[in-house]
Amino acid sequence: MSDAENEAPVDPAGELREIAARVRTQLETRGRSGMLGVSRRPSRRMAATPAVATANTDGHAHAHAEVHGDSGGAASESSSGISTGARGLVMIREEIGECQRCRLAGGRKNIVFGVGNPQAHLVFVGEAPGADEDQQGEPFVGKAGQLLTKMIEAMGYAREDVYICNVIKCRPPGNRNPEPDEVAACEPFLKKQLAALRPRVIVTLGKFAAQCLLRDDTPISRLRGNFRTYEGISLMPTFHPAYLLRDPSKKKEAWTDLKAVNAALKRLGFEPPNPPAT
Ligand code: URA
Repeated sequence: MSDAENEAPVDPAGELREIAARVRTQLETRGRSGMLGVSRRPSRRMAATPAVATANTDGHAHAHAEVHGDSGGAASESSSGISTGARGLVMIREEIGECQRCRLAGGRKNIVFGVGNPQAHLVFVGEAPGADEDQQGEPFVGKAGQLLTKMIEAMGYAREDVYICNVIKCRPPGNRNPEPDEVAACEPFLKKQLAALRPRVIVTLGKFAAQCLLRDDTPISRLRGNFRTYEGISLMPTFHPAYLLRDPSKKKEAWTDLKAVNAALKRLGFEPPNPPAT
């Protein structure tokens, strides 16, 4: 058999489809992460940020300036060799590709990767996308998401200031709990996202994200409100906003947790753009 006969058959249409999918993935991820310089909803904070920020006493201003500055998106390589910031996130999104690693691929409309500031010092991690998130390709945009946005704003941030993602990137059918093999397939990408983001604090929303990252099956009612450590990063478990919608009496405890997060960040030198009145 000749070399030519050994080669895979050429499928120009298939190749074009693959290239188009890659370009779409790049544009989606860059657009959502602000790498194209077009934020979906420009934050008040970003408008106030100088084009070049040199003072590292304000890590927040520094972060936005890096992402929206002339460099076209900040990226660096950490001492562990991991690409960080926006470029790190784009690489992870590319690695996920048009994922078929688990059965959730069959029922999804969109892979819900994550959204927000790639230089965020505060990251929120939920469980898995629901119907609204699957439709829009963005985490926490349904009813629970609207409450999460209010919680973030009550802390003094805009959604665009922080980063929001989930353990699972595709919607489980009927919003059922993710199965262990689905977690096993998807969680490595969350871990990579967190390694690229290197936030100062992670807030997990609900029992699933907390138990997953902490490898601890303590009930959320006992996990919440106590700082733990995930890969050297402070992690605060709190209630899931969907649970708070079902039991609004628990909002008080969630707010206590978020105030503790703000206090911890303040000790590290990070204050929100619009600090809440104390
Ligand atoms: N619930 C989650 O855990 N994540 C979302 O993105 C939406 C709802």
